[in-house]
Amino acid sequence: MRIKAALGAWLLAITLAWLAVVPPDFGVAPLVDAQGAATGWWQLRQHTIYLTGLWSIGLMSLALLLALRLPWLERPLGGMDQVYRLHKWVGIGAAATAVAHWGAKESSGWIKALWGRAGKPAHDAVLPWLTDSRGFAKDLGEWAFYLLLAMVLITLWQRLLPYRRWRIVHRAMPLLYLALVFHAVALMPLAFWALPLGLLMGGLLALGSAAALWSLAGWIGLRRQHAARIEALTLLGSGADAPLEVTLAMPPSWPGHRAGQFAFVRFHAAEGAHPFTIASAPGALGANTRGEPLLRLVIKPLGDYTRTLHGRLHAGQGVSIEGPYGRFDARGHAARRQVWVAAGVGVTPFLALLEARQPGAAGRRGGSAPVQMHYCTRDAQRDPLLARVQALCAQAEPPVELRVYSQAQGQLLQPQDLEGSGGPLDIWFCGPQGLGDALDAHAARRRPWRVHRESFAMR
Ligand SMILES: Cc1cc2nc3c(=O)[nH]c(=O)nc-3n(C[C@H](O)[C@H](O)[C@H](O)COP(=O)(O)OP(=O)(O)OC[C@H]3O[C@@H](n4cnc5c(N)ncnc54)[C@H](O)[C@@H]3O)c2cc1C
Repeated sequence: MRIKAALGAWLLAITLAWLAVVPPDFGVAPLVDAQGAATGWWQLRQHTIYLTGLWSIGLMSLALLLALRLPWLERPLGGMDQVYRLHKWVGIGAAATAVAHWGAKESSGWIKALWGRAGKPAHDAVLPWLTDSRGFAKDLGEWAFYLLLAMVLITLWQRLLPYRRWRIVHRAMPLLYLALVFHAVALMPLAFWALPLGLLMGGLLALGSAAALWSLAGWIGLRRQHAARIEALTLLGSGADAPLEVTLAMPPSWPGHRAGQFAFVRFHAAEGAHPFTIASAPGALGANTRGEPLLRLVIKPLGDYTRTLHGRLHAGQGVSIEGPYGRFDARGHAARRQVWVAAGVGVTPFLALLEARQPGAAGRRGGSAPVQMHYCTRDAQRDPLLARVQALCAQAEPPVELRVYSQAQGQLLQPQDLEGSGGPLDIWFCGPQGLGDALDAHAARRRPWRVHRESFAMR
């Protein structure tokens, strides 16, 4: 909802600013005049080219700003995972509007074929020092457009490129953006630089360009990175899918975290930072003999890199950790009943939230109302985390009533299973996309339900 609202508000602001600089009648009627000149069609084409171009570059500027991982964006958008979701949808929106921009430009062939060139407006005046760059700016824009489409395609069609390689390719986006900024500045009509559109677009292009340079310099999140060390490693259970528990000793610079937050962790310099939930409550693990506070990660071998971690990590190894981020803190509305739904590795934020409810926990910030927790696991008999979840629920204060669904025993959670909880619900969900979507769809029908989701996918 917040994502749709943010996207809608952004496009509306650009559209309103554009409306202030175009003639009130748009000059499109009649589409074809008495002499057979398609003046109206040419004007319509012109307006479409400009408006879709403004939308596209405006959305791209927003995508660049969102990629900066600015902590103050977490509150309005509901956490850094949601900031990334918005970044993804803004990128898709930028590509869709770029397709419309390209289509409008290409429509000249059809208009010419049907009605001829008569009525086609002359080129608009542009910034005087860029008048001679028209041809170059057009070609640059066209090539950048093709590359942008390819980038969105490989982002959405995930099988085409594994995440690791996609990430490297994706790092070229700021360069593409800078090329498109040149295209926009060189071809935007002089009249568009008038207020309010000139101020809006000038500001967006300047901020977006600064963000692109910041990203190319590798400065994103730099000030929130801390040098930690691996204190201990424990393989939980046996078998290829056994999760790895990593205990980290944190430096004095670490600002601390709230239960339910996550961090970007880089174990190896050659590998990008991966997001992992901090699966312990603040202070729950105490400190090591050197007085360094400890925190815990629980990592499931879900992909190419995480599958190799068990053999590649060792105690004493240096680790870069950036954060903390996220607002998955189970602080809901007092008038709603709290329901937690954890599935698979999505249990990690709940481990921290449960620890925050243990007697004597520092600050006891795991929420003040009783909770019903639904935990979905592949096989309850083999789940190495289940005993811990049960023990934490048994001692939680305020109480947490636990229900376990074991897929191996044919027990699958259905959204209707939450109905028994009665009244308006505050649902905190972390788990697979499919179950989250089913909960969302059910909650939309049961209006008083509200679903808070932690998204484990950033692509
Ligand atoms: C907010 C958040 C919290 C998470 N908490 C946990 C946790 O507590 N325990 C746990 O086991 N897993 C957690 N994950 C998932 C974990 O980040 C991925 O499983 C891991 O990064 C996969 O890496 P891979 O190279 O092994 O997998 P790959 O096969 O390369 O990728 C699988 C998928 O993992 C995601 N991914 C991979 N690399 C990155 C990256 N560098 N940055 C962002 N996403 C990436 C992508 O969506 C990708 O499609 C969390 C993810 C998010 C977004």
